[in-house]
Amino acid sequence: MRRIDRETVQKILDTADIVDVVSDFVSLKRRGANYIGLCPFHNERTPSFSVSKSKGICKCFSCGKGGSPVNFLMELEQMSYHDALRYLAKKYHIEIKEHEMTDAEREAVTERESMLAVSEFALQHFEHNLNNTDDGRDIGLSYFHERGINDAAIKKFRLGYSLEKRDDLASTAKAKGYNEKYLVDSGLCIQNEQGKIYDRFKGRVMYPILSVSGKVLGFGGRTLRKDKEVAKYVNSPESVIYRKSYELYGLYQAKQAIVKKDKCILVEGYMDVISMSQSGIENVVASSGTSLTEGQIRLIHRFTENVTVIYDSDPAGIKASLRGIDMLLAEGMNIKVVLLPEGDDPDSFAQNHSTSEIEDYLAAHEQDFIAFKTAILLKDAENDPHQRSNAIKDIVRSISVIPDEIVRSEYIKECSRRLRADEQMLTRSVAQKIAERIEKEAQQRQRQVAVQSLGDLGQTTTDFQSTQQEESEPIIVERQSSTVDDSYDNRYCAFFKPFEREVLRYVLKYGMVEMCESCDESGNTAPLTVMDYVWSELNEDDIHFTNRNYSIAYNAAFEAISSYKDDLQREIAKLTEKRSQLMTNGIAEIQRTATNLTDINAKEQALTQQCDEAYFKDLNHFKTMYVVRELISSPDDVVRRVTTELISEKYVLSKVHTKYAKIETEQDKLNELVPRAIYEWKDAILESQMRDIRQKIKEAGNNAEELTALISRQMELKQLKSEFAKFLGERIVAPRK
Ligand SMILES: [Zn+2]
Repeated sequence: MRRIDRETVQKILDTADIVDVVSDFVSLKRRGANYIGLCPFHNERTPSFSVSKSKGICKCFSCGKGGSPVNFLMELEQMSYHDALRYLAKKYHIEIKEHEMTDAEREAVTERESMLAVSEFALQHFEHNLNNTDDGRDIGLSYFHERGINDAAIKKFRLGYSLEKRDDLASTAKAKGYNEKYLVDSGLCIQNEQGKIYDRFKGRVMYPILSVSGKVLGFGGRTLRKDKEVAKYVNSPESVIYRKSYELYGLYQAKQAIVKKDKCILVEGYMDVISMSQSGIENVVASSGTSLTEGQIRLIHRFTENVTVIYDSDPAGIKASLRGIDMLLAEGMNIKVVLLPEGDDPDSFAQNHSTSEIEDYLAAHEQDFIAFKTAILLKDAENDPHQRSNAIKDIVRSISVIPDEIVRSEYIKECSRRLRADEQMLTRSVAQKIAERIEKEAQQRQRQVAVQSLGDLGQTTTDFQSTQQEESEPIIVERQSSTVDDSYDNRYCAFFKPFEREVLRYVLKYGMVEMCESCDESGNTAPLTVMDYVWSELNEDDIHFTNRNYSIAYNAAFEAISSYKDDLQREIAKLTEKRSQLMTNGIAEIQRTATNLTDINAKEQALTQQCDEAYFKDLNHFKTMYVVRELISSPDDVVRRVTTELISEKYVLSKVHTKYAKIETEQDKLNELVPRAIYEWKDAILESQMRDIRQKIKEAGNNAEELTALISRQMELKQLKSEFAKFLGERIVAPRK
């Protein structure tokens, strides 16, 4: 195993653009200085996921998830730190320089990564079989060619072939050093009672199932044998890496087309997706056999609101899938339906028509889902009053799940016409359905609260909780890190938390910004950064962060500046070069356009000023971002989390603040704000010491000696506290919180 060199890491972090990275997963719209979109981490209909290009972070205002490009990828795609870096390097064509891993580094590789690694190996092995073995070419490749799949599509969907051998994959993988355990855990192999392992997929064409970022999670394998003994399809079982209800076949290949066309086409099988894609309709995905789940719908919703479901004209199949479509409606998505000509499925239709013919057909035959459903249900029920009333109930239910009231009432009007049913009656029924559902949801919530307040008494309770959580929060990330220790929260920690937090925030946000001048005994002055200042203040009084996570982040900030001086020199050289380039271009332009000497002088003066301003602005940005840039992408979970949390804090308030331009002035007032934050913290420490003394005085009873000592200490503290009060009072314009 190999590890990426620090230089490469820096280059990757510098290059990765948060808007760019997030856009690969979430459709973003510009809103002022930021971008917004639907949060990929939780279920929502109105966007609360905000991306700040200048800060280089994203954050959901509702569930709080997000962070730097690296953190975003790690959480969303369940990547390891190094996989996230590799992903970014690939995206930006950055060459990775790496070194051999040490034993300690190797140990840190998680189970998950091992399973992903062995799955990737299996995929490459299946691809190799298909293209480079006799059986693969004769059986697998010729099958795909017969089905009209060309080599480009085979490559794009990474199709493969598993040889008709008991342990072809198992033995090859083991010979390459892959662990049996992960071959079994990932479902690629099965272990028999004697403990021997053999291949799950034998003599099958292989369809790999990829995550949104292109990682191999599992496989579908189709047999080409005609005998009835063998199951036509074998699929990877659920595993740590593969959760069927959260994946869609073809999404990795389709996602860009979906965003571009702002539409997702939903079909049923692997071949439907591949044929459509090969025919130039690339925004196609399949739920691969299973009926649509909420997790899959949410996955689609991350990219678009518009879904077109393609049906072949098999009435039984259509009826079975109607319920799944109701879930899409409930997500607030716009659902259209296309019915293919009799006898065609998406695969055959795509094979027999050109891109433009398919596009024309889809455009001409797309119909609204509710109208479609109404027609289907009514067709069977035209002359049967009982069935008719069932159909009406069914449609009422579909309409009732639509979140938007206006859309609902439009549908009610439309359906009342089609169903020849009274509009008032339909409106009442829909309202009643909604009320029923609200009540049911309230009951569920109550039950959940009751269960949670029971804590983890007994197995059943915790089981229930964990399934609940899984439903609402499917992103579970396991990684190495300093132990995240939230429970370490004694009364001191809780009491000091806001004070420590504020000081740490200044360190992280403005670390290398010069806040004032320091002056030594002989009167020499030197600029003092926020970090210098905080460090010397805390050191002088031997103050430490009591909240463990803050302490970790604070120490990481100091580690991050170890190469600051060199980096600063480099940055200055870069900016000086940029400035002189700007000047040269500007002067050439002036000479070309100026009319007389006075004009030239005035224009040159303005140019110089402009270039200086740009230079200092860039330099200031570099200093402000120096610590943050490093820490929000730290390999340590705690450091990343604390940093993201603290620097995005004011960002949450930005709507209010920017109005009065307060965000800009915070940096201008650092020489007041940072000392104030330090003194408030020190004041809090005194306060807590005084509380302790008061308690001890109470407990001391009649022990005169101890009492005297305590009271004299109390006097000292009071004295100090009043000095602080004076300091805080003088320096602070704004009233204390
Ligand atoms: Zn969220």
